[in-house]
Amino acid sequence: MEAKGLIHELFEQQVERTPDREAVRFQGESVTYAELNRRSDALAQRLRRSGIGPDKLVGIGMERSIEMVVALYAVLKAGGAYVPLDPDYPKDRLAYMVKDSQVGLVLTQRQFSGLFDELEGDVWIADELDSVLQENGKGSDNGTARTRDGHLAYMFYTSGSTGRPKGAMNTHAAIVNRLRWLQKTFVMGENDKLLQKSPYSFDVSVWEFYWPHMCGACLVIAKPKGHLDNAYLWEIIKSEQISFVQFVPTMLQTFLSADQCEDLPFLRHVFLCGEPLTPTLNERFCSLMSAQLHNLYGPTEAAVFVTNWTSDRQPERTVIPIGTAIAENAMYVLNDRYEHVAQGETGELFISGIGLARGYAGRPDLTAERFVPNPYGGEPGARMYHTGDLGRWLQDGNLECLGRNDDQVKVRGFRIELGEICSVLEQHVGVRQAVAVVREDQPGDERICAYFIPDHVYSPSVSELRGHLQQTLPDYMIPSYFVEMETFPLTPSGKTDRKQLPSPTLSRLMIAHAFVPPETFIQKELAVIWSQFFSFDQIGVDDDFIDLGGHSLVATQILVRCGDVFGVKVSLKDMLTRGTTIRALASIIETGLLEDTDDAELNAMLGELEHLSEKEIEELLK
Ligand code: AMP
Repeated sequence: MEAKGLIHELFEQQVERTPDREAVRFQGESVTYAELNRRSDALAQRLRRSGIGPDKLVGIGMERSIEMVVALYAVLKAGGAYVPLDPDYPKDRLAYMVKDSQVGLVLTQRQFSGLFDELEGDVWIADELDSVLQENGKGSDNGTARTRDGHLAYMFYTSGSTGRPKGAMNTHAAIVNRLRWLQKTFVMGENDKLLQKSPYSFDVSVWEFYWPHMCGACLVIAKPKGHLDNAYLWEIIKSEQISFVQFVPTMLQTFLSADQCEDLPFLRHVFLCGEPLTPTLNERFCSLMSAQLHNLYGPTEAAVFVTNWTSDRQPERTVIPIGTAIAENAMYVLNDRYEHVAQGETGELFISGIGLARGYAGRPDLTAERFVPNPYGGEPGARMYHTGDLGRWLQDGNLECLGRNDDQVKVRGFRIELGEICSVLEQHVGVRQAVAVVREDQPGDERICAYFIPDHVYSPSVSELRGHLQQTLPDYMIPSYFVEMETFPLTPSGKTDRKQLPSPTLSRLMIAHAFVPPETFIQKELAVIWSQFFSFDQIGVDDDFIDLGGHSLVATQILVRCGDVFGVKVSLKDMLTRGTTIRALASIIETGLLEDTDDAELNAMLGELEHLSEKEIEELLK
């Protein structure tokens, strides 16, 4: 197999070509290629001196920033590999990941140092170190000389069905193959800008970070949590004239539902990955945007993506393919005896080729189960990866992905093993048995729902269970609803019959306190807006957004409606931190209105509205 090179070598070659071009831009700050190289070299030297080298893992617990990019390159330049330790994750989960991956060193920022203070091993405050090194740092000591492209570049944790997350170990060769293919196929140039907005704990972020630096383009980094804020995304894509961007389909759907939605002529390529692209979304995108739309498919275990299909912009399409394998990788559709199935027949998708991960860290059993000998591979020892995805070959030679053959789900692009949620839930003393499913009671709105049979001794409250899960699971894995049951419905063979699990009766019984009706005009209007997103019979002013089953995407949509109705912009952060009830959100909106309007004018306006009936107000708002 031809040598692929190392990720940071692609960057270093570009530094030679365009040292003075802008490499990274973040919230008004920017660094050139030469500067980024110098800073990451300086940190790399320190890392090398502390023993980082081939196949040595370094944890990175930072939020989006220029220092994060410096740290990512520094670890690679030192010859090691990085493990993202997202500061948004619960401390217990981070501790598990550090222990499991055996990282001996974590690079973090001052504000997150408390998350790692009880860990064994070193914790370096990268932002402080970076400024010291900026003054004293010299060039590279060629520390990566011993690292080859078969060595590890990164390790990402994904949800694990047995209750523990698992780390997939990926090599330089695998990801460099993807980067070279991207550049050859879509040709990014020096004047292009790519928006880095995928959370760095998901492997789809990998090509975002490194591709622009192969070709002199600029990496524009979204502000922390900016990827959840639709208005911000529109603003930054327009103001920075972004030409390459990636979305998970659910987020693209939300992006295209914004009021300000219009064609962005400077946007050249939009990449989707992580979830199915639906015919409706394909059609909507093509009718609104002139950019090309690409549907990338692949799991973390195969270096981000393995296939691509570029939309042919045919609005009447009912089947959206995932395309065919990219160079030096192959896709098979096999039955359970590993035989090829006929074109059109459903089988499991298997992946082989250069993109495959080395396996799961410390889990030889699971590695052997998922990465099996490849009977169709020419090379001795060739393997193929059991994706767990079902698929079929279409007549035109493309593949179609047809969902899963197991309990792994995607919710808003997040990969989740429902078994992990159940396993943590069953560790609670008050839970005898648990089952979790994804429900779509309102079209396009998928929510995780947990059903549990309480232990005989006592029945835990919803907030207790939520608190228990929050200690170990990231927010995106916390169920929206918890339903207590006496028994689970069973199939004739005695398994839990998930299809018969009742729709969560979204009644007041699930909320610990009494219903308090909205009183003021703003509260009443908010109750109307909230009721469009929740199937509750009555929403009271003190009901918590999260208890009702809210999540960041719903919050974004509510805020868009609030902007339309009240003309006040509330940030996502404000809503999720201090505006999670109608009462609290109304008060933020009132303050916003007061800032914009003369007091007397506003009071007179609100006073008038107080006397109108709900119907009259609704009429007025139309
Ligand atoms: P992750 O490891 O988070 O990238 O998730 C990988 C899984 O996401 C795959 O095994 C598929 O189930 C799903 N997936 C990724 N890309 C696509 C796509 N383009 N279409 C359908 N499903 C996808």
